[in-house]
Amino acid sequence: MNDSETKLIDAAQRRLGPKGVITDPKEIEPWVTDWRGRVHGAAPAMLAPASTEEVIEVVKLAAEHRVPLVPQGGNTSMAAGATPPADGSAVLLSLRRLNRIRSISAENRLAVAEAGVILAMLHDAVKDVGMRFPLTLGARGSCTVGGLTSTNAGGTQVLKFGTMRALVTGLEAVLPDGSVHNGLSGLKKDNRGYSLDQLLIGAEGTLGVITAVALKLVPAIAGRAVAWVGVDSPGRALQLLRFFEAHTDAVEGFELVPEECLQLVIKHIRGTRSPLDGSHGWHVLIEATTSKPVIDIGGQLERLLGEALQSGLIGDAVVAASEAQAEAFWKIRDSISEAERAEGQMLAHDISVAVADMPAFLTDASAEVERAFPGVTATGFGHLGDGNIHFHVRAGNRAAPNWYEAEGLEITRFVDDLVTAAGGSISAEHGIGQLKRAELARLAPPGRIGALRAIKHALDPLGIMNPGKLVP
Ligand SMILES: Cc1cc2nc3c(=O)[nH]c(=O)nc-3n(C[C@H](O)[C@H](O)[C@H](O)COP(=O)(O)OP(=O)(O)OC[C@H]3O[C@@H](n4cnc5c(N)ncnc54)[C@H](O)[C@@H]3O)c2cc1C
Repeated sequence: MNDSETKLIDAAQRRLGPKGVITDPKEIEPWVTDWRGRVHGAAPAMLAPASTEEVIEVVKLAAEHRVPLVPQGGNTSMAAGATPPADGSAVLLSLRRLNRIRSISAENRLAVAEAGVILAMLHDAVKDVGMRFPLTLGARGSCTVGGLTSTNAGGTQVLKFGTMRALVTGLEAVLPDGSVHNGLSGLKKDNRGYSLDQLLIGAEGTLGVITAVALKLVPAIAGRAVAWVGVDSPGRALQLLRFFEAHTDAVEGFELVPEECLQLVIKHIRGTRSPLDGSHGWHVLIEATTSKPVIDIGGQLERLLGEALQSGLIGDAVVAASEAQAEAFWKIRDSISEAERAEGQMLAHDISVAVADMPAFLTDASAEVERAFPGVTATGFGHLGDGNIHFHVRAGNRAAPNWYEAEGLEITRFVDDLVTAAGGSISAEHGIGQLKRAELARLAPPGRIGALRAIKHALDPLGIMNPGKLVP
């Protein structure tokens, strides 16, 4: 620990009290490695303010002592965005104690939640007043409102409701000079120039600390139906989505799952089994919902699937007969990352291309990667309707203790070049963090990089906010 860090920690202890400053390495240890266990950092302390006023104190101290802060929510980032540098030159700023829901208004269809509120808790709280916050994802039991906002997270219902950018009406944040931006008014119309709220959404903690967020709510679900469908190709899956969209606006989840991912889940995740008899090359998990009790959503889904089966569009399908079965289908989808992690070494690429191009991209890119690196297996799963696939390359018989170091970068560059050539994005919803920073620098046009750097320098001239992340 250097002199500046010691001074910062002493001053923080005086202002925040013992609960607000953690220096015991055993308590800090679980929070300095990323969720995938790939990046290991170090931090001399974890500061844990419990109010916006305390965050202001911390940011001012960090600026005074020139000690960088690494904001952290649930530490579920897929890009190691909340992992501190390995040399211990920054302190962690945990927002998890900032966890009050300040207000919920069914009338205004708005909730104001502090940054540390866990997504699953927000879901439960708004349900109690007949409303719903429609964004959800596999990490909902740990990820926080601040982290979701800072990564502009997407998840499984983007098809109908959009990413965080579409669901945040405004936010409160402490800027790097200790001043506060308050955008919590919930105004539907506000054209006072640049939107600081939108700038901070997806900023990955590099421009300030989000302390609270005003979130759009929608009416609670009155009926939901979940189906598991077997199809023979991603192209068929997309045709099925378009078929559904022509007949109903109830579809809000449409997740593509390749057979090999299903088999990995069955192998590694206790209590899971294939929803359909027989083998299908590809699967789709469909969720349809309605907020109107008079609509028979299950009947509607069954009728449309029956038509799709008759026309040969799909191979087989089953509509969940109970909530428990619906949850079992979702468990398969939500467990893919965990199952892959259990299977062994794997490189993850969160990519997007134009929706209509995704089926061909997926098939062609998998074949090209497997041809270029014989022995690996490449496939993609996820949000087909958003043109966003998690394109994963498993080490297969090339696995070795140093596989990531030996080949990881080369394979990732190969994939990112394919994505860029297809006009796509190397980060659809997981952000840049530290894992994709070099690739952003390599592939983004100079204008984009220049603007990122200029904005960062204008708001954070001392470089105290999440150094080494996002901005190349
Ligand atoms: C099993 C699993 C499934 C996932 N599925 C999806 C998915 O479907 N779609 C998707 O988009 N993402 C998904 N993710 C990743 C997703 O980005 C995170 O789950 C979530 O958005 C991060 O929330 P967090 O609280 O854990 O943030 P952290 O991981 O703690 O932080 C993420 C980033 O935000 C910054 N940050 C955190 N809090 C603040 C704050 N208050 N102010 C400023 N900066 C802050 C951090 O510095 C870091 O850069 C998944 C992750 C897991 C583990």
